[in-house]
Amino acid sequence: MDSQEILRKMQRLARELQAIRRPLDVLIGLAHRGETVDKAAISNILRREATQRKLALNWETVLYRHTTGQYVLICTALPDNAKDAQILTTRRLINSREACAFCGLVENSFAPIELTVATSPVGIPIQSERVHPRCALSWQRLKLIAEGK
Ligand SMILES: [Zn+2]
Repeated sequence: MDSQEILRKMQRLARELQAIRRPLDVLIGLAHRGETVDKAAISNILRREATQRKLALNWETVLYRHTTGQYVLICTALPDNAKDAQILTTRRLINSREACAFCGLVENSFAPIELTVATSPVGIPIQSERVHPRCALSWQRLKLIAEGK
């Protein structure tokens, strides 16, 4: 299987789920449901920093190793209109101190390690909002879209 295909499947999984944390093996299994694949080979590719960078830049998909050793997969695709963005910005602000405001992943006791205080586009901290460092920019962009900017 070529690596484009692997990235495409991770992107599809991220889009379906928005955000998920599982062992990398399980994520690979979910991305390749119903197929027989070489999980070790795919895992080798996905663990590479270069692959994770490519996913983030070209596939709107964040993948990284969590403190627990599991992997986090996040879809960073943004809506192209203010109305949809407003629905997302209000829906995602649940459980705000223990969950990422952007992707909604609940970190519970890992929140102090994995989440950071969100900032406005001009760098002002928003104390009521926590985000993954990797979600911070997408969260700012989503809010700008929601404001019609
Ligand atoms: Zn997040």
